[in-house]
This record gives sequence, structure tokens and C-alpha cells, in this order.
Amino acid sequence: MRHRGRLFVLSGPSGVGKGTLRTQALKGIEGLAYSVSCTTRSPRPEDREGVDYRFVSEDEFTRMAEQGLFLEHARVHGGPRYGTLREDVERELDAGHDVLLEIDVQGALQVRSLVPDSVMIFVLPPSEAELERRLRGRHTETESELRSRLESAKRELQQAEKYDHVLMNDDLDRASEGLRRIILSYREGGLRK
Ligand code: 5GP
Repeated sequence: MRHRGRLFVLSGPSGVGKGTLRTQALKGIEGLAYSVSCTTRSPRPEDREGVDYRFVSEDEFTRMAEQGLFLEHARVHGGPRYGTLREDVERELDAGHDVLLEIDVQGALQVRSLVPDSVMIFVLPPSEAELERRLRGRHTETESELRSRLESAKRELQQAEKYDHVLMNDDLDRASEGLRRIILSYREGGLRK
């Protein structure tokens, strides 16, 4: 019988570099699948439908949530809603692939209680000041969105202790190697849950 895959949840405040770590992990680790989330936010110019997100309307999202299609879902930073499709995750896990989710802290805590053997990884910024610098540097938020993300970040940082692993992203290569090592060590049976 084929081994069922394992669910890895990468989470942490906005601007901490989760997206880049996720991309590097997917490039560098064979047999690791990504679950494309649904969101109600408007696409940015660089967003590809079905690759970065599936963009849906508020009504569609509400319907999908009512139908129980989401493994987890949350309204992030008081704005758009985001959700992970249950069926996508199950299909990959059944095929024996490990699955990586890159989601916010509220969603991660939902997954933790629903899938107790998932591996929870929190990405930590070197400091709050550095987080603000990075968020400002990417120019994707308005000033009020930025304020709201920084407020959420303060709350989210207090949740780090609920995670199995905390990864400091002060140096991208080092953090990326750390993530790789965590994922591979579960595969090799070194770390267990
Ligand atoms: P962005 O809109 O900048 O791509 O993402 C904003 C935030 O939403 C990020 O913190 C990201 O991790 C989170 N996010 C993306 N997809 C999901 C999801 O499916 N569920 C939850 N709960 N959060 C998500």
C-alpha cells in the first residue's frame, strides 16, 4: 500500500518571506505538492489564475464555504477571504505526496485541530522593524492596508509557540535550507508526529 503523504503548514505574518520560502521548497523538494488557495481579493498584475490563486467572488466563496469545500478558510487582515480546498489536499495526500500550505495564522490553527499530524512551521522576522521595512519595500499595500498588516503581525507573532517549528528568516538561503531540512527529516523518519 502506498504511504499517505504528510501535510506541512507554513505560516507567519505578512511580509516575512513565506511566499519565497514556499517557492524555493517546491522547486527544490521532489514530491512536494502545493495547494492553490481560493481568494476573494482582486488579482495583482503578476498573479496567474489557477497558479497563484483561484480568484472567486464573495458570493462564490460563501457558497463554497457553506458546501464544506474548504479545509480551512479565513478573512485575512479584515479584508479578503482565503481558503484551502479540501479535495485538492486529500487527492495529493492520497497519492502519497506531501503537501505544503502557505496560509495565515488563523487558517493554520484550524488545520492544526483538524489534522493533528500536520507539521506546523512558523516563519519569524528578525524584528518587527525589519518586517515593516520589507512590507513597505514590496509596494503592494496602501498605507492603511500596511498598518492593518502590521497590527495583525503583532498578534500573530504571539502564536509562534503553538507551532512545531519556528524558522527565523534573517537570511533567505539559511531559512530555505532550514525548511528543506524540516520537511526531509519527517520523510526520513527522524522527526515524528
Ligand atoms: P496575499 O494576498 O498577499 O497573497 O496573501 C495574504 C495572506 O493570505 C498571506 O499571509 C497568505 O499566507 C494568506 N493566505 C493565502 N492563502 C491562504 C489560504 O488558503 N488560507 C488562509 N487562511 N490564508 C491564506
